[in-house]
Amino acid sequence: MIEVRDLVKHYGNKHAVNGISFRIEKGEIVGFLGPNGAGKSTTMNMITGYLSATSGTALIGDVDILEDPIAAKRNIGYLPEQPPLYVDMSVREYLNFVYDLKKVQLPRKAHLDEIFELVGITHVADRLIRNLSKGYRQRVGLAQALVGDPEVLILDEPTVGLDPIQIIEIRNVIKNLGRERTVILSTHILPEVQAICERVLVINNGIIVADGRAAELGARVDGVRRLNVRITGDVKSIAPVLRAIDGMKSVDILGEKESGSCDYQLTSAPGIDIRQPLFHALEKAGAAILEMRDAGASLEDIFVKLTAEAETAKSKGGRMRSKKKEEKD
Ligand code: ATP
Repeated sequence: MIEVRDLVKHYGNKHAVNGISFRIEKGEIVGFLGPNGAGKSTTMNMITGYLSATSGTALIGDVDILEDPIAAKRNIGYLPEQPPLYVDMSVREYLNFVYDLKKVQLPRKAHLDEIFELVGITHVADRLIRNLSKGYRQRVGLAQALVGDPEVLILDEPTVGLDPIQIIEIRNVIKNLGRERTVILSTHILPEVQAICERVLVINNGIIVADGRAAELGARVDGVRRLNVRITGDVKSIAPVLRAIDGMKSVDILGEKESGSCDYQLTSAPGIDIRQPLFHALEKAGAAILEMRDAGASLEDIFVKLTAEAETAKSKGGRMRSKKKEEKD
């Protein structure tokens, strides 16, 4: 279990983290999502005890990271974006080294063998880390986080730089790990959160702007769905047909990418699926769809939306509080 209470971090005048609180239970994998500079790394560094907080605290299990950082850290496995690997060691040598460093008390061989199995590196255990692919290095990074069997795992951008197959494999490993542990997964990638996490925390400008089910965040995305479509025919006749479709919010012309056609980005009104009306309208106009791709909403769109909602709620709450105060006065 992790409980973060009113955590604040100021760097001089910069309020990087501005009073955030949340609780994550054992068996939960929670996505920690936010744009660049939102405060994700600062928060994770405070939770893992690498950075002191200006105020507030974090509990790892029952242990307060400020009161007993050594005991709290024993319960945390951390996979930073760049795993701290010694490439001249073999996988086995490296994990033995981490075992010693963490002063683990569990039976050495059985514990490390179990981790090798769990992250799927048994067959490369005697290879030098420098000779491993990026995907396997990432697995070794995960393995070092698991040494000592910590209840809490904090994973920073665990799939950055991996190829699609490696991404799927690492996501499956993380899902398995999450069954018995408390996992925080920091990422920029929305589909990643939706693939792995049940719950998502969204941070922006140092505050939590959403805390809910990952699928619900998906529904908000659906609300502002965008399609990239390649359509035959000339823009002058096709664009008005597109604009006339019920539920069409905007039509952006992206230009000619294939001779005799044009690419468009179509944004539908919230909650409306325009794919079928689009098909019928174009058929009627004698045009054909050569390609159609869901462009989704950009994460930036979602962050802007959630942040605006959070600010509206805050200012309403603020007004209510000040009104009450006036009444009281
Ligand atoms: P990214 O995804 O780009 O890593 P992030 O969400 O992890 O971003 P943080 O690195 O936590 O964001 O940064 C939060 C804010 O605090 C940013 O505006 C950043 O510029 C600022 N910041 C971070 N570290 C320092 C520091 N040591 N001194 C001053 N400002 C800092």
